[in-house]
Parts: sequence; structure tokens; C-alpha cells
Amino acid sequence: MDSTITIPEVTENQLPEGPSTEDREHAMTGPERKALVERAKTLLSEQDAVLVAHYYTSGDLQDLAEETGGHVADSLEMARFGHGHPASTLVVAGVRFMGETAKILNPEKRVLMPTLEAECSLDLGCPADQFTEFCDAHPDHTVVVYANTSAAVKARADWVVTSSIAVDVVRHLVERGEKVLFGPDKHLGHYIERVTGAELLLWPGSCVVHDRFKAQELQALMAEQPGAKVLVHPESPQPVIELADVVGSTTQLIQAVQDLDADTFIVATDRGIFHKMQEVAPGKTFLEAPSAGAGATCRSCAHCPWMAMNGISNLVTTLEQGANEIFVDPETGRQAWKPLKRMLDFNEARKQRIHAGT
Ligand code: SF4
Repeated sequence: MDSTITIPEVTENQLPEGPSTEDREHAMTGPERKALVERAKTLLSEQDAVLVAHYYTSGDLQDLAEETGGHVADSLEMARFGHGHPASTLVVAGVRFMGETAKILNPEKRVLMPTLEAECSLDLGCPADQFTEFCDAHPDHTVVVYANTSAAVKARADWVVTSSIAVDVVRHLVERGEKVLFGPDKHLGHYIERVTGAELLLWPGSCVVHDRFKAQELQALMAEQPGAKVLVHPESPQPVIELADVVGSTTQLIQAVQDLDADTFIVATDRGIFHKMQEVAPGKTFLEAPSAGAGATCRSCAHCPWMAMNGISNLVTTLEQGANEIFVDPETGRQAWKPLKRMLDFNEARKQRIHAGT
């Protein structure tokens, strides 16, 4: 890692304050929530819109997406689904870079989000001007960026990756003899280094949610739950990853709860994922990995405060008013499209190789 880089630090004080949209909707009565859901269904249909929601959003949003022909997914699948869908409007429930990615891949479509204020600490910690300077200082490196970045950072990259494909892409590049600069998540970068054996030039960013998982407290919980399997997202710190039975993207962790012969899972990622885990593995028990020690008061303990800004109420307002539309500068979008398309093509070829058994 280049120790000379100083990045904007995202502290607890900069996170959204007060009850989130998600909290407010949980406090509603059953009939109130049902009325909102019905209104959202009508608006989606009237406006030829399809909802794509991330696994970290509320259960109500995930259910709405699936009940209306939309999709619930990780960021790679969100990008792929939106790209292939015929609806003229995409509604993206997640954080801003996800809406931007949808717009870059679908410049002809209207892309709306329930809120435009949902940030991501990885994106905030990787300003395009500083990142460009870093890349320019290392012109012999192939630039690989995580999807959790702005359109301008993607536009500077050779490849975009998500956590489900990052290891395979970097391994592919290293096998071709390329040196790789990876950003912005340092924990994911170190994980890729350990798995591939490659040395990467890393940007020192981190996710405010995953960075808080604590190995010592996790070991204590494992001792209390000796039969539990430990599932960890690779944005978590290395000591936490080292305790994992499975390290993987959200989709890979959801697959693991179906495949593994265990009744209890300790999960080190955003607890929004429990909604899908409970659906695919009913009867199993899911426990949050400890995030900041006993009595922690962090606003980002195991749940992304920006993801929680999404709800059905602001989705309805967005559709009623045609508000919160995502715009990406066309030239930036054209440049960012290339590394994104490279990822989608690589993923397609990888799936075909797996299918063919090679
Ligand atoms: S969970 Fe972390 S990586 Fe995901 S959107 Fe929130 S801050 Fe970003």
C-alpha cells in the first residue's frame, strides 16, 4: 500500500442522523405499509418502471422488487439485470454509485433512486482527482476499481469489479503479466493479494460497516456457538476474514447458507442480507457478527446507514414527482462504460466456462 496517500476519512459524525426511512417505515401500522406497497406497485406499472434493490435494503423493498418483476441482487447482478431489462425506467434502491452504474450502462433509460443522498464511504474516500493523480503516478499498472466508486473514478479505470468477481479478474490480469493498482477497498485488496499471491498497489479506503467487525468478539461468539459456521464479506478486516468458514460476496454468502450443513450462521456483513437468507434457508438461525465490542453505539454497526435511507415511501414520492433522477456526464459515462462492459463480458465468459466444465 502507498503510505503517502491521505484520503478523506468518513467518521460516525458524518453518517446520516436520526431515524432512517427504514426505521420510520418499520414503525408504521400494517395497513399503512400495505397502502404504500400498493401505491408503489401501481406507479411502477403505470410508469413502465422496474425496481432493482440491493440485498442490504429493507425487506419490504426487496419483496416489492420481486413481486413486481424486478430483482434483488448484489451490485454485479444489479448492473447486469438493469442492462438487460426492457423497462424504460429503472428504479435503483441502494446507494448512489449503483444508480450511476445503471445510468452508465443504460444511458437511454431514465434512472431514478428513492434518495440521492445515500452515499458510500468507499466512494467518499476515493475522490476522482486524487485517484487520478495516484494512477498517473503509476502508468505501468492496470487500474482495477471496485464498483463502489463514482462514475469519474470508473472512467479512469481499465476494469471495474465487484466482490464476486474481483479475485478472478485480478488473477486473470496477473497471469497475463500485468501489474495491478486496486482501489478503493484496502481489505478487499489485501484479501485478493492473499488468494492470488499477487502484490497489488492499493488505495487505502474502507467500508464503515465492514471495517467495524471485530475478531476478538467474534471468537467469543464462536465459542458460545460451537456449531455455527462463520460467513464473512471480504470488505472486513483480515483478522475477521481469517476466522471465516466462507469468504464471499453477498450472493456467495447467500448460496453458502443453502449449501452448508449447519443450522446456525454468524454473518459478517450488513444484516439486510438476513431477509434473503431467511427466505432461502428457512428454519436456520442467523447471528450478526460483533461489530464494535460490547455496548457499541456506532450508527454503522452491521447495517449501512445510507442503505437504510431507502424506503417505499420515498420510492413512491420519487415516482410521483419524477424526482431523484440520476444524470452522468455523457463523456464520463462513455469512458466508464468500457471497464464496466469489460467486467460484464468477463463474467459472461466465466459463466460459460463453468457451464462447459473447463
Ligand atoms: S455497506 Fe459499506 S460498501 Fe456497502 S454501501 Fe454501505 S458504506 Fe458502501
